[in-house]
Amino acid sequence: MDPVEALERIADLLQRVRNARPKVQAFRRAADAIRDVPIDELRTLADAGRLTELTDIGKSSAAVIVEALAGTTPDYLTKLDGSTSPPTDLAGPVRAALRGDLHLHSDWSDGGATIEAMARAAAELGHEYLALTDHSPLVRVAGGLDASRLEEQLDVVAALNDDVAPFRILAGMEVDIHEDGSLDMEGELLGRLDVVVASVHSKLDMEAGAMTKRMVTALANPHVDILGHCTGRLVVGRGRAESTFDAELVFAAAAHLDKAIEVNSRPERLDPPRRLLRIVDESGAKIAIDSDAHATWQLDFQPYGCHRVAEAGLAVDRIVNSWPVEQLLGWTAAHAESG
Ligand SMILES: [Zn+2]
Ligand SMILES: [Zn+2]
Repeated sequence: MDPVEALERIADLLQRVRNARPKVQAFRRAADAIRDVPIDELRTLADAGRLTELTDIGKSSAAVIVEALAGTTPDYLTKLDGSTSPPTDLAGPVRAALRGDLHLHSDWSDGGATIEAMARAAAELGHEYLALTDHSPLVRVAGGLDASRLEEQLDVVAALNDDVAPFRILAGMEVDIHEDGSLDMEGELLGRLDVVVASVHSKLDMEAGAMTKRMVTALANPHVDILGHCTGRLVVGRGRAESTFDAELVFAAAAHLDKAIEVNSRPERLDPPRRLLRIVDESGAKIAIDSDAHATWQLDFQPYGCHRVAEAGLAVDRIVNSWPVEQLLGWTAAHAESG
């Protein structure tokens, strides 16, 4: 394992899973500190026990570098990985049924990897397709795509599909839901996408009645296929409370409109919570088990969501990303026609 990669991976894990900012920054600075140091020089310093003489290399990062140089997986990384890996006994059969992933980000918005890298990593996990769902403009901190960048991305995706075939990159977007339930992208463009995930990222604490109306309005939009991370909660670090809304009503609307509620697999989200998953089950709505990956390795978050779905006993044929791509595209196209 490359020492820089090891340090970056630790920083990523700490950030995404633990939300531990000072430590994240320390590991990122350590990665930067050795990025341009020739490997032989690094080895010499490691052998002499002098790595900490480099600026920004502390004891923990020095240990990581030494272990990575020795060709072993650093302890720190193993422990982090171990504390975050999901129970696989329950998740296994559901995960095995998945053929794709319908919510993930590339470096066009706030992801860390290229579209092609995400596609190749998804293929390696055994997937047949993914939907590329970078952010819409409202999420400015996340480098959301405006209409012209989205159009540009559509061309790039079309060209990339020739390279990655038979794997399929579906065009998509994680579009923001405005406070009034309208969407943060013009309909004409959304109509050209294969898959649209609609999510709330702002004003998460609005009053329950207004939030219910906001979500139902978004679900009723013919371009929308999937409602992303519905409660917006964060369960690690300082955390974030769930948005409140009438879950029976929202999920019943999804069922009536034949749309899907996302099971967001990110360990810090695990959204919807168990209590709401039971209501999803009763509603009859479809579900999508997505990684919401912002880096290639995060595509492997799906088992967390699979575990939740298995626990709740939801039938596998309700998971839209367990379907062959043609069935999936038929389902999303039917929404557009109903508008
Ligand atoms: Zn989101
Ligand atoms: Zn996302």
